Amino acid sequence: MSAVLIDTHAHLDDEQFRDDLPAVLQRAAAAGVGSIITIATTAPSSAVCVALAAQHTALYATIGIQPNHVAEASSTAWDEVVALVTRQRVVAVGETGLDRHWHYTPFPQQEDYFARHLALARKHNLPVVIHCREAEADVLRLLRDDYERHGPVRAVMHSFTGDAATAEACLAMGLYISFAGMVTYKNAQALRDVAKSIPLDRLLVETDSPYLAPVPLRGKRNEPANVVHTAACLASVQEREPTILAGHTTQNARNLFWF
Ligand SMILES: [Zn+2]
Repeated sequence: MSAVLIDTHAHLDDEQFRDDLPAVLQRAAAAGVGSIITIATTAPSSAVCVALAAQHTALYATIGIQPNHVAEASSTAWDEVVALVTRQRVVAVGETGLDRHWHYTPFPQQEDYFARHLALARKHNLPVVIHCREAEADVLRLLRDDYERHGPVRAVMHSFTGDAATAEACLAMGLYISFAGMVTYKNAQALRDVAKSIPLDRLLVETDSPYLAPVPLRGKRNEPANVVHTAACLASVQEREPTILAGHTTQNARNLFWF
């Protein structure tokens, strides 16, 4: 039997899964994906993720507001997120972080919410799922600030696309690095070189479903079963047996998310 994988980042509350989530979960199980973390992006999405995790034994949930959704959040949204933090099968806070690619949320407001998520996670002894798009220096600045005050944070840089220096800085602060389908793309050799340098005990895999399907499914709706392609790519990049890579990334996910 091949080793079990964990998809550490999927958006199963997305409307693209509304009609066939049970079939999606069956395909994941058949592909050897034993657990999936469904990641919240808004207050309503947090509630849906918590409900999905209560319904499906393979699922765990996060609660949080993704930086691009902060500006549109209602005045009660943050309190709604906070109220969900102690619910069953909530294994992390996020996704949070910073995004300079889109301009939906003013940057100071993104920083405010990133800091709130970090504080909420610390208070409840949960890890943090961090989104970083074209804002590596800013994310590192906030993480360093947090690190200097409180010490190492339990966190993952999700769908990592930064350079080796950013990865090294994150690793030095105790973070995990997670790769999604982008690492499989033909033009992503620089990212594969970064992935090669990540120690086996800090590496995670994810799909970021329904987005960014890995090769050979690029352009299709992504789903958790496809994490096998990303894991296979990482195994080849790291020159490891696929079962060794699967075993380590799964153990790393358990070490980070505590389930
Ligand atoms: Zn995401």
